[in-house]
Amino acid sequence: MPSPAVPFLDLRAAHDPLRPRLRAALDEALDTSAFAGGPFVERFESEFARFCGSRHAIGVGSGTEALWLALTALGVGPGDEVITSPATFMATAEAITFCGATPVFADIDPRTHTIDPEAVEAAVTPRTRAIIPVHLYGQMADMDPILATARRHGLRVIEDACQAHGAEYRGRRAGTLGDAGCFSFYPGKNLGAIGEAGAVVTDQPEVAEAVATLREHGQTRKYHHRRIGWNARMDGLQALVLSLKLAQLADGNARRREHARRYTELLADDPAITSPETAPERLHAFHLYVVRVSERDRVLAELARRGVMCGVHYPVPVHLQPAYRGLCCREGSLPNSERCAREVLSLPMFPELTADQVATVARELRDVVAHPARLALT
Ligand SMILES: *Cc1c(COP(=O)(O)O)cnc(C)c1O
Repeated sequence: MPSPAVPFLDLRAAHDPLRPRLRAALDEALDTSAFAGGPFVERFESEFARFCGSRHAIGVGSGTEALWLALTALGVGPGDEVITSPATFMATAEAITFCGATPVFADIDPRTHTIDPEAVEAAVTPRTRAIIPVHLYGQMADMDPILATARRHGLRVIEDACQAHGAEYRGRRAGTLGDAGCFSFYPGKNLGAIGEAGAVVTDQPEVAEAVATLREHGQTRKYHHRRIGWNARMDGLQALVLSLKLAQLADGNARRREHARRYTELLADDPAITSPETAPERLHAFHLYVVRVSERDRVLAELARRGVMCGVHYPVPVHLQPAYRGLCCREGSLPNSERCAREVLSLPMFPELTADQVATVARELRDVVAHPARLALT
């Protein structure tokens, strides 16, 4: 029997059927020379704002820039503290540090891997200026109590929706509940460019205007600079590609949810595997399907040996990264995020997965965790 081979992610499977249209998009960019910002970016901005249910979307160069510019636009700066989750990609905390502010990490709810609203409330100090909940793996954080804490203390809320395009909380889409929502269109995200891109969405015209100014060297018109900004424009070709791919996002997310439903069904009765939980009143976008297992690194290695490629998001919580050592939290201080970091395993997840591949992954995973002695030999 040939060994099963299931990639973790297959971007060619997404792009191959689009090749003629992607080539036409490149021609359109070459015909007009609208490469940096410009009409294609403006068109995508209005399409993405409509998709999210937001008044404004501002295209930028990456999700990292979206976070950094949203924080800056909302007035976060030196001396401020920003509460966020340690269970995230480094960029969330980095953006806070780049503003001159200090990240303060609050532990997660291990059932959803999103920030625990009670831990957020407990982390508020007189210097707290903002909260960044992270909608990790495609599931939105528990926004209502977080927004209540923000109202009580006069804090800004910036959603890190970089993994949550099209996810919902009580019928509202990711990015639209806080003061601003930040998206990444890195190629592997649910909506991915063929390069780097990101966006900030907001309902507040002043915030939209500030981000739009900041992404373009702080200029209000060409060569007139009101403040210090940066070059953080979205490029025109990426905007064309994103417009094409946005039309397929809802269908891709539905397919991801179907794969997730199958995974959960196939893994449900195995006590050695904890399947992801979707909290009530959330629509999960399943950017990642993340189970928890013990001996994770050895399970990961054995699955790879069998041709089933998995990932780990993320092996080290941000508060324990060497870059943040000494900032605040010792090992053991945020136990839920530390335990999850040791146990999380991301199974292959992308819309084009086949039912056979999902079944193969589930079967191999069950077999691997059923034989811990064999694992020890690998
Ligand atoms: C991808 C990601 C980012 C950063 O986005 P880039 O486009 O890679 O800069 C930030 N936060 C989270 C949670 C992400 O997954």
